[in-house]
Amino acid sequence: MTATAPLILIVEDEDKLARLLADYVVRAGYAAQIIGDGTAVLPSLRSAMPAAILLDLMLPGTDGLTLCREIRQFSAVPILMITARVEEIDRLIGLELGADDYICKPFSPREVIARLKAVLRRTGPGAAAAASVDRNVLELDPLAFRIRAAGREETLTSVEFHLFDVLYREPGRIFSRSQLMDRIYPDRRVVSDRTIDSHIKKLRRKLAAILPQRELVHAVYGAGYRYEPQAAPPRD
Ligand code: CA
Repeated sequence: MTATAPLILIVEDEDKLARLLADYVVRAGYAAQIIGDGTAVLPSLRSAMPAAILLDLMLPGTDGLTLCREIRQFSAVPILMITARVEEIDRLIGLELGADDYICKPFSPREVIARLKAVLRRTGPGAAAAASVDRNVLELDPLAFRIRAAGREETLTSVEFHLFDVLYREPGRIFSRSQLMDRIYPDRRVVSDRTIDSHIKKLRRKLAAILPQRELVHAVYGAGYRYEPQAAPPRD
């Protein structure tokens, strides 16, 4: 660990878990700081802003929900929320807390590190460049519901096109099925979550037909979907 290693703040009151995460974080080349009490988080951020925060939902003092909201008042620092229940994730996304990703306990520390790296890649200095690569690669034609890339073209249905458009406009943001339905069917309540899944499935198949090496629309387990710009153009 060097003095220049990006700092990852781990906000977790279960001491063993916090130390396990810190171990993995340090082994991945970052510096780690642990805070076990919610009330200590904001004062700590005011003295040093970390590169990212792993934020447990249930905390003594101030809970993770409140903290996430408060942090978003003054900082766009990447936040990975950690919750003990997968069913909770959809609700958390619905609250629009501004978290960058959600992880469900029990998790493997490896998975946490992978998600942490992904968030840092999406939000870090290279992210804007990666997004503009996508802007150059992909061409959306909203009049014909067509997507073009790499000399290939696919015609989407109106629903598929709008789904993709919603995800594509906010790279990295997770949309729950319910949020996607609100965007696509403003007068919904007659369609089920499965409808979104089935449209996304067809959309992904069409995207794979034009850009086979890239997974543009990611399913986030228990949470929904997101458009993920890739760090580098595909290699053959
Ligand atoms: Ca906890």
